Amino acid sequence: MKAELHKVVSVSYRLLVNENNEEIVVETAEATDPMVFIFGVSGLPPKFEESLSGKSTGDSFRVSLDPVDAFGEYQEEALSEVPKEVFVNEAGQFDTEAVYEGAYLQLEDENGYLHKGKVVTIGEENIVMDFNHPLAGVPVTFDGEIVNIREAQPDELAHGHVHGEGGVHH
Ligand SMILES: [Zn+2]
Repeated sequence: MKAELHKVVSVSYRLLVNENNEEIVVETAEATDPMVFIFGVSGLPPKFEESLSGKSTGDSFRVSLDPVDAFGEYQEEALSEVPKEVFVNEAGQFDTEAVYEGAYLQLEDENGYLHKGKVVTIGEENIVMDFNHPLAGVPVTFDGEIVNIREAQPDELAHGHVHGEGGVHH
């Protein structure tokens, strides 16, 4: 069986970034706990899927992606100032344990959605948070292997996601 539209594909991979001409591993999916997705409807970068297209179980792949094809360009607009009073602990004090430069925090917006951001600087009144994806603006490489390929079940295609192992349980 080959990786193509509507097949359920499992892959192991290492996500690599280049730092000072050295490849650094920033994320790993082992063969025992692979990433599982429905080919063609996964929402994964099209260029990532293209690199797997037509390959079989056991085949390896390696694809380098520009930021625009991976985690997006870095956007200045994703920097925002948040009043310090948002970060008070139960005692009403500014929470210095959780909030420090470089810390990642989850913030809820007015619609109840959670956004993960990084603390850039802590000022007198405000904190500058960066809500870009940590890999925004960074070219990345996926280096991996196809672990398994199977047919998608009709209910998986109807839902647009994998059920069972590596997928949604419901
Ligand atoms: Zn479902």
